[in-house]
Amino acid sequence: MLDRAGYSLIAEKTFSDFRSAPPAKEDAWRYCVRVTSGTTGGQLIGAVLQYQAESVKRFSQLRAPVLCLGASATRLAYNLQARHGMPAESRSLVLDGADLNSELKVVLAQYAPDSILGFVSFVVRVAEYIDRETALGVRAIILSGECTTEAMESLLRDTFPNARITSRYIALEVGRISEVSCGFQPPNHYHPYKGVKVEIDSPDESGVGSILVSPSTRPEVIQYQLGDVGRLKSEPCPCGATEILEIMGRNGRDYVKLAGAIVRREECDRVMLSVALFDDYRLDTSHVILDGKLRGKLHLRVYRKDGQRSPDLGARIEKEFSRQLYLSPSRTLAELVRTGDFVPLSVTFADAPFPIKNKEIKILMVDA
Ligand SMILES: [Zn+2]
Repeated sequence: MLDRAGYSLIAEKTFSDFRSAPPAKEDAWRYCVRVTSGTTGGQLIGAVLQYQAESVKRFSQLRAPVLCLGASATRLAYNLQARHGMPAESRSLVLDGADLNSELKVVLAQYAPDSILGFVSFVVRVAEYIDRETALGVRAIILSGECTTEAMESLLRDTFPNARITSRYIALEVGRISEVSCGFQPPNHYHPYKGVKVEIDSPDESGVGSILVSPSTRPEVIQYQLGDVGRLKSEPCPCGATEILEIMGRNGRDYVKLAGAIVRREECDRVMLSVALFDDYRLDTSHVILDGKLRGKLHLRVYRKDGQRSPDLGARIEKEFSRQLYLSPSRTLAELVRTGDFVPLSVTFADAPFPIKNKEIKILMVDA
């Protein structure tokens, strides 16, 4: 099995091959040297990728896309592909987080996008800046790079009723892993791309484990461990596919194993909406040893748009969040506190909205 360190050796080799035999000038745009974001705390990995004709072709139906991508290198790479794939008279608008200000609404109304591509949390934020009439003109929303929650998907469906929403599961290191979502499956459920073999490493009792990928497109990459967690089912889909891969997110970020329980971002998002006592949150997870026993510890940092805060409100959030948050199929945080597997939840109020870098990371591991 290949992990990130093994992958970086291969990436270094392809990079040095690339330098000793660079492509001809007219073909140069097809190549991309990229460095992984490093958000998982691992070392940065550089890679040389060559765009396939197919990934350029997917832009051929677009006339005025908005690209919502975080890192400048990713924006540049997507825009290069878009410019080469789109018809000559079309245009593209590329946004980053700093563009989300009061002027954006006017810019977007004048631009009149027909499509939006990018990370789902970014697209959801951009949706706030699109008026109804402009939103009705959006025909396609193309997502990748992040898990989509039910709440995000229904917001996008309400905001853009005329848009077809599709997503793909892609990893920078190995390229495309899934087919374009077929429409019959819930968010984050994909069919493996033809020629890509997907396996789950040491699945737990519910079939969940680390995702391993063996892409035929990169013969030198054998069984790569992506760092994502998921579940693979052999099940017929109305579209004709027979395998379904459910992505649960980044190991240690969207899905954290803690003191025998599992903290899932999607579940935390669900409870936030249900509790309705705060507008955004970050959850710090860690292990503590108390009376000689290892226990899980959750610290919830909440943000309220109206700035309201009080010890009373904090206590209500603590109580409701603990009562409603499931950390196993049958047990809530409150129950795990009672059995001593977890220490009680602590809650603090944040003074300002949480900054978002390239992706919105809500669950953090603060163990040393
Ligand atoms: Zn299907």
